[in-house]
Amino acid sequence: MSDEIHDLIIIGSGPAGYTAAIYAARAALKPVVFEGSFDAGGALMNTTEVENFPGFAEGIMGPALMDEMRKQALRFGAEIITDDATALDLTGDVKLVTDSDDKVWRAHAVILAMGSGYRKLGIPDEDRLSGRGVSWCATCDGAFFRDKPIAVVGGGDSAMEEATFLSRFGSSVAVIHRRDELRASAIMAARAEKDPKISFEWNSAVSAINGEKSVESLTLTDTITGEEREFPVNGLFIAIGHEPRSELVAGQVDLDGEGYVLTKQGSTATNLRGVFACGDLVDHTYRQAITAAGSGCSAALDAEKFLAALG
Ligand code: FAD
Repeated sequence: MSDEIHDLIIIGSGPAGYTAAIYAARAALKPVVFEGSFDAGGALMNTTEVENFPGFAEGIMGPALMDEMRKQALRFGAEIITDDATALDLTGDVKLVTDSDDKVWRAHAVILAMGSGYRKLGIPDEDRLSGRGVSWCATCDGAFFRDKPIAVVGGGDSAMEEATFLSRFGSSVAVIHRRDELRASAIMAARAEKDPKISFEWNSAVSAINGEKSVESLTLTDTITGEEREFPVNGLFIAIGHEPRSELVAGQVDLDGEGYVLTKQGSTATNLRGVFACGDLVDHTYRQAITAAGSGCSAALDAEKFLAALG
């Protein structure tokens, strides 16, 4: 175990973690940031153009944006560790963070910013064509599919919301659902059903995504007869749920029924003193880079206030 007790350790390196690091470092807290070993930089490392992050009139590539945030945190003195936090003990006054070499790091405060993963279909070519027609975020990528045929996979509220939003852009939007009825709430389903651009492919599962450089079509399998058919689209939006990366803190930090970290209203404080949470790890609703960055800023300010009160 290290002798040193740091003021603040930040776990996670997306817009939330790096923004928390920028603010905490500028406040001279010398934060230690665990950015992860293989997916440092967070979800935007897997995308191409980000057009909606303020300050970049012409857009910016996701990895370039994250690299700038990382450099900004380093510039103010954050210590960035390219490793995973593999275990956390957050219950005491001194928080313990274990890395992949079993070294234990100590801090008075911890910010959790581990993000959330979009649930994947788990079929070949999904990763290869991610950012090339396959997307998990209509708000982020819908505008790339103006006047093109689009499909949305899923049958819940988020799938209906994505489909309704995408109908402003696409020439058509097909909702592909495994069953013959939606899980979505009546109001969300009715809105989608009324939209003349939206159609439904019932009892259908996406079994392949086809295209060399970008998505050209899907192979759909009928979930009752097993029959396969080709379905031409240029955009595939996958809306089958999210998984917050909260497994390391389950049992210590209060989570909601879906595994998102619960924070006190109007704050980033969790149920544990000195433990704050931000970004997609806590956010059911917005899940945008800018909202994650905003809540990372709030977490750093909350942690700063907490540390100042410790004296
Ligand atoms: P994340 O970005 O998910 O970052 C969390 C990171 O923390 C992980 O990737 C990992 O590196 C690290 N981490 C996790 N666990 C540990 C651990 N135990 N130890 C150490 N490190 C850990 N939003 C927009 O606003 N505009 C867009 O154009 C846009 N496009 C998108 C395109 C794609 C393909 C995807 C997937 C998302 C897109 N989003 C977009 C959404 C946006 O990326 C997320 O809302 C945002 O990245 C969430 O930030 P975060 O910091 O909370 O978490």
